[in-house]
Amino acid sequence: GLIQSDKAVESVCPYCGVGCQLTYKIKENRILYVEGRDGPANHGRLCVKGRYGFDYVHHPHRLTKPLIRRQEAPPKSADLVMDPANPYTVFREASWEEALEFAAAGLKKIRGEKGPKALAGFGSAKGSNEEAYLFQKLVRTGFGSNNVDHCTRLCHASSVAALLECIGSGAVSNPVADVGQAQVVILIGANPTVNHPVGATWIKNAIKRGTRLIVMDPRRSELVRHATYFLQFKPGTDVALLNALMHTIIEEGWVNPSFIAERTEAFEEMKRHLQVYSPEAMAPVCGIPAQTLREVARLYATSKGSMILWGMGISQHTYGTDNARCLISLALMTGQIGRRGTGLHPLRGQNNVQGASDAGLIPMVFPDYQRVDNVEAQAKFEALWDSSLDAQPGLTVVEVMEAITAGKLHGMYIEGENPAMSDPDAHHAREALAKLEHLVVQDIFLTETAYLADVILPASAYPEKTGTFTNTDRWVQLGRQAINPPGEARQDLWIIQEMARRLGLEWNYSGPATVFAEMRRAMPSIAGITWERLERESAVVYPCRQEGDPGEPVVFIDNFPTSSGRGKFVPADILPPDERPDKEYPWVLITGRQLEHWHTGSMTRRAAVLDAIEPEAVASLHPLDLEELGVKPGGWVTLASRRGQVTLEARADDAVPRHAVFMAFCYYEAAANLLSNPALDPVAKIPEFKYCAIKVSAG
Ligand code: SF4
Repeated sequence: GLIQSDKAVESVCPYCGVGCQLTYKIKENRILYVEGRDGPANHGRLCVKGRYGFDYVHHPHRLTKPLIRRQEAPPKSADLVMDPANPYTVFREASWEEALEFAAAGLKKIRGEKGPKALAGFGSAKGSNEEAYLFQKLVRTGFGSNNVDHCTRLCHASSVAALLECIGSGAVSNPVADVGQAQVVILIGANPTVNHPVGATWIKNAIKRGTRLIVMDPRRSELVRHATYFLQFKPGTDVALLNALMHTIIEEGWVNPSFIAERTEAFEEMKRHLQVYSPEAMAPVCGIPAQTLREVARLYATSKGSMILWGMGISQHTYGTDNARCLISLALMTGQIGRRGTGLHPLRGQNNVQGASDAGLIPMVFPDYQRVDNVEAQAKFEALWDSSLDAQPGLTVVEVMEAITAGKLHGMYIEGENPAMSDPDAHHAREALAKLEHLVVQDIFLTETAYLADVILPASAYPEKTGTFTNTDRWVQLGRQAINPPGEARQDLWIIQEMARRLGLEWNYSGPATVFAEMRRAMPSIAGITWERLERESAVVYPCRQEGDPGEPVVFIDNFPTSSGRGKFVPADILPPDERPDKEYPWVLITGRQLEHWHTGSMTRRAAVLDAIEPEAVASLHPLDLEELGVKPGGWVTLASRRGQVTLEARADDAVPRHAVFMAFCYYEAAANLLSNPALDPVAKIPEFKYCAIKVSAG
């Protein structure tokens, strides 16, 4: 018969930034199943990951004891041959006391001998706001530098840089569900059916009621079936396409003159800049007919409410900041921002990448984006934390790996991130991690990164702790503890505090509520959110500056939070991708995700249902390309770039453009990031995951 649960705990999905609320049904410390709950972003809906992706928490690979690398273990190597089921050939079990002492002593030794900048920490967008806040505080006050970052650097760093520069705030202006009130929606460089599935259902519902969808993407996605226009532009030509749209809007007089006059600055300069970007001139560059560009420009500019949603296709380029600047300019010149059913929405990836960024897991800013090199901000945090702080921005994710290789960085503390899989040029990242004198990893599984650690601290999975998480719409939501961590695994907040104590910090936070109380003092945007209210309402949207404020789902209604109160046009020129196809490497590789698997796969590949649907690494190619290669679907292909090589199964997919390959980055046995290019956007330091040159061969 059906097993009856004896407990129901209200929480939030641990996967994507949509932030669906759910209920865990529990019996004897095991999750039996999950149900959707009526949260602001999902109203009861869940996707396949949220509904079936929970049993990773009970997987036998869970780390249940602290582990220390054996002295006689084989030397650390970038050529990983690991067995996550059996860590004991490389590691031995240790008590918490021994592991924590060992972890902290190694870091302290490096700090003493080589200085604070020889250390760095990566926190996690999978952890809570409170964990992120304490982790960055530990690095800044315990290590003594700003070398703290997390996966936002690989995701929306460029979008955030452009948003902060142009309109003074890095978060979304309107929630996803506002598509229901928009007449026109532009979706560019994003595939929400796969990556924000419940968000995609709101888009489809809106289209049913008359909203017109314009999809712009080099790769066809499922939502194209529902679109009025599909602009399948050539990979890497975003700026050409967007500048042509803006050129047309100005030329045809579809701008919003009063909005431009009252709410923006530097428009004349922008206008001059756009003169050369006529649709006729840009059509051959981006591959979209001039007439289509004109029609789309008109539809967006002249509707009563138009909204732009974008994803990694925009941000993960060496010109990602430029791409986002163009989208912002498009909204500013047409006044399509500051009302319901309009605005700018960079779809955030991880469940808590918004919150972890807000909480300060970023090397150039303190919590709430207060710059570390700003004298006032520094004085404020020195007083709040009773500590002297470094005024120099720290190193970003990829820069950390370069600093290790250059012999400048020697010790790291990595909590819940997996750079051995997620960094571009993963082999180089693994070599760097292997070279570290001391690596402390805090995680729930023996990840590819943990395998290179000197000490592993077994941590808690999402349902094993209480904390707040901020979704893509800016809702701060309460995730409640449903079960206990297995064996001797401990909650992350406890582990971070034990590490802090051993690094000489006198902390005493009794739990997430006390940490959150301090965060309210540090962060004006959430100052009005009380823990009691979170417990009562489960979700509160920020900005919420004073207690009792309802919170603002839509922002920029009267002004922008810039020094002048105006939005700023920043022109962008066409730049080519860093590594273009040539004779030797004639194909383009596009990396991304699949519906069933999450990022580096450490959770979803251990969730039985999800793993059953997508059990193996696949590369998607156009059927005609497969034919030319003489490979049948299901046959093998080898992909090689200047950095590495992988062999995997081929899948026929006519959504992929000709002479391009699409690959998810979750497969350890064929890691896409062994191939991808670490070249960085100069402003945001985000790597170009969406474009590199490869060669493809059969077998
Ligand atoms: Fe979880 Fe995102 Fe799916 Fe919602 S849409 S259930 S948050 S993965």
